[in-house]
Amino acid sequence: MKKEKISIIIPCYNEEKTIPLFYNEITKITKKMNDQDFEFLFINDGSIDDTLNIIKKLVKKDKRVRFISFSRNFGKEAAMYAGLENVTGDYVSIMDVDLQDPPFMLIEMLEAIKNEGYDCVGTRRVNRKGEPPIRSFCARLFYKIINKMSKIEMVDGARDYRLMKRQVVNAILSLQEYNRYSKGLFSFVGYKTKWLEYENIERVAGETKWSFWKLFKYAIDSIISFTTAPLSLAAVLGVLICLIAFLAIIFVVVRTLIFGDPVSGWPSMICILLFVSGIQLLCMGIIGQYLAKTYLETKKRPIYIVKETEQDMVK
Ligand code: UDP
Ligand code: MG
Repeated sequence: MKKEKISIIIPCYNEEKTIPLFYNEITKITKKMNDQDFEFLFINDGSIDDTLNIIKKLVKKDKRVRFISFSRNFGKEAAMYAGLENVTGDYVSIMDVDLQDPPFMLIEMLEAIKNEGYDCVGTRRVNRKGEPPIRSFCARLFYKIINKMSKIEMVDGARDYRLMKRQVVNAILSLQEYNRYSKGLFSFVGYKTKWLEYENIERVAGETKWSFWKLFKYAIDSIISFTTAPLSLAAVLGVLICLIAFLAIIFVVVRTLIFGDPVSGWPSMICILLFVSGIQLLCMGIIGQYLAKTYLETKKRPIYIVKETEQDMVK
């Protein structure tokens, strides 16, 4: 009988230090899982260090290793998409190269899919050890907000590390949007998902590519991708302010009728003016964000551009 194949997608951006360590670990695990075939698809996301050469060395050494090298840095979302589009396995996993996603969990994941009837297995961190407290706080706040606003459930602490059946991969690929927020897309496609939990592990080497500002932008993008709730803000605030204005008019009229009208109230007028114009600008900004995303979607630009793959090496 033909062995089933597990494909592992590994996005890499400036990871020259971690790739050898990762390869070491993952091959230990794949040796244990010897009734499966494997495929390692490294995505070189426009690295400016020696990442590509290190991957090429692995390709020469191990024929299960493949790679796709981008023409520039397109981001991890694009790298994951390229991986999903190009893998050939019956099961597909996405793994970080920094060993923050422990490879040994693959055994348990495959078990859950094969014997417990799950379609995919995701992982979530139960703590955020080694992370700045302010970052953890904001992350938690983000999950609270997005889960209130969006119908799609976002699991707090969920990683991109997962194992999926081919059917799930095809479902994800059928979502053709340009602005991708994979954690949401994984949730959106549904299927029976098991969540494995683990304690946060720090990077083996190298540095995280996420700055606070980048994470903040990512959070805003994901909210815009998965809910249109902020768009109703203008309507809600509009009604609220009209209501307040109506009460204020009654108050002013009654007061004038009873006490006469000493002309005053300039400072409060300015406050109200600034407040209301602030809200108007805020709402316009929100609409602008959605408009901008729509604009980018309509351009239908490719999500990634390939410069070379392992097939170009043989020539
Ligand atoms: N990564 C990528 N492109 C990028 C940034 C990151 O392919 O533009 C890869 C990176 O090489 C790593 C994974 O995405 O394998 C996760 O990145 P990182 O460890 O910096 O993120 P964190 O674990 O801190 O969330
Ligand atoms: Mg990491």
